[in-house]
Amino acid sequence: MYAVTKSTGPSHCRLQPGDVLLVTDIQNDFLSGGSLAVAGGDAVVPVLNRYIGAFLAQGLPVYATRDWHPEGHCSFHAQGGPWPVHCVAGTQGAAFAAMLTLPPDTTVISKATSQDLEAYSSFQGTDLDSRLRAAGIHRLFIGGLATDYCVLNTVRDARKLGYEVFVLADAIRAVDVQPGDGQRAEEEMTGLGARRLTLEGLAA
Ligand SMILES: [Zn+2]
Repeated sequence: MYAVTKSTGPSHCRLQPGDVLLVTDIQNDFLSGGSLAVAGGDAVVPVLNRYIGAFLAQGLPVYATRDWHPEGHCSFHAQGGPWPVHCVAGTQGAAFAAMLTLPPDTTVISKATSQDLEAYSSFQGTDLDSRLRAAGIHRLFIGGLATDYCVLNTVRDARKLGYEVFVLADAIRAVDVQPGDGQRAEEEMTGLGARRLTLEGLAA
């Protein structure tokens, strides 16, 4: 039995050892001018930069995930998939946004790197879980793109794997293929026990 709790607005939180910032798919193809641009996606970049600054100030790690497809990936239209060609490994479209201020020691996690496998979750087919466990990470602070795909699926897996999760509500945007997808994704994540956090809720 789950206790259903109504969303009660953003949480407050003080960063501590065992926390990690997970910056999800801030890649050129998902931003304005990209082949699969997420509406409003550019607006999350300066917000994520502030989260990055907060984590660095506490000496806490920053991880960045990226969609990193081979040419002819199964998710592309020509292969019968739902998406235009995007984030082909090594291309400018797959590069992290130039405006994103990732620190030099960012841990980069590449996903959906096999031609015949799609992966929306940053845990799927990657070594993210083992890296986090080796680093003693318990709490994930997840922002980026897109709310209703990679953020949602990463949060689902993170909760299954027992991590505490904070969704950075001011640093995510949805694709909204169906109107309301993003809102439903946020509700599902809250229902899974993920807490909503904004910059204002992050204690100095
Ligand atoms: Zn993709």
